[in-house]
Amino acid sequence: MAADNIRTENERYRFCRLCDIIDSIPEDIGEYAEKLYGLLDENERAGEELIRSRMDICEECDRNMHGTCLACGCYCLIRCFAVAQRCPKKKW
Ligand code: SF4
Repeated sequence: MAADNIRTENERYRFCRLCDIIDSIPEDIGEYAEKLYGLLDENERAGEELIRSRMDICEECDRNMHGTCLACGCYCLIRCFAVAQRCPKKKW
């Protein structure tokens, strides 16, 4: 059995489906995040408080590599945006 801090084969090939619909990732991640957030329907968007509480957990997580979640391949911030999203490691 693999240790918890070692990625599985499945994790290695996961990607963010939201990223797939954006032509290119701008250098300004804030601008990119804002664009993705804007693509969500209003009722799908997590509120500021929920995003903050999720990000607080991500910031302490051993799967967070410079803002990218190694468990799912998404930017942590972007994963936190959609209210229906879940942490792949069930931390939030
Ligand atoms: S989404 Fe979950 S597994 Fe990924 S960095 Fe955040 S807390 Fe960790």
